[in-house]
Amino acid sequence: MSEHPSKSILLEEKQRVYRELDRVKTDFASRGWFPGTSGNLSMRVGAFTPEQFTFAVTASGKDKAASTPDDFLLVDETGAACEPTALKPSAETLIHCEIYRQTGCGAIFHIHSVYNSLVSELFWDRRSVPVEGVELIKAFNIWDEEAVIEVPIVSNFANIPLIVPEVRDRLDKRIPGILLRKHGIYAWGRDAFEARKHLEAFEFLFEYVYKLKLVQGR
Ligand SMILES: [Zn+2]
Repeated sequence: MSEHPSKSILLEEKQRVYRELDRVKTDFASRGWFPGTSGNLSMRVGAFTPEQFTFAVTASGKDKAASTPDDFLLVDETGAACEPTALKPSAETLIHCEIYRQTGCGAIFHIHSVYNSLVSELFWDRRSVPVEGVELIKAFNIWDEEAVIEVPIVSNFANIPLIVPEVRDRLDKRIPGILLRKHGIYAWGRDAFEARKHLEAFEFLFEYVYKLKLVQGR
């Protein structure tokens, strides 16, 4: 078997990705998007095939409001560290692996918020959150004025490997996000800029959908 692509990643590429993740982390922390050290961020680096790839991901259990040299580590497509380190990747890294494998995207951001948790429970029976004809759907490159999108919701299990097959089955490549029931959202994009744009759009839409349901009294 050929050498894993992580072996040819330049130090400066790695540093660039860590710096970018750090900026995103600081920004999201200031918005209160990492309650109780929850949430995780990742960015892909180096060559990609669905069978072999590398990404930088947040280390487990760190205070995301602080910036330290051991906030991130590089892992491979199985979620294992690529370099000798005492750092542990987030438990949810396996979900990042599956999303990269399926989409080949460049960045994945996962946060817990009140609105994404609320809608994931409110619409659990249909296993997706319907969003109809709202301007911000354009953030996903869907331009139809009356577009209806369905954001998939998957089960939340404490045992993360059990969630992965559901993500595999339910991920919809036109919709750059997936909800975990009463847990949070994974949103992605081709790079950090796009992933952040998608995440902001989802959070806006979830708040809208929730409040609309309230005023409609249903
Ligand atoms: Zn989480």
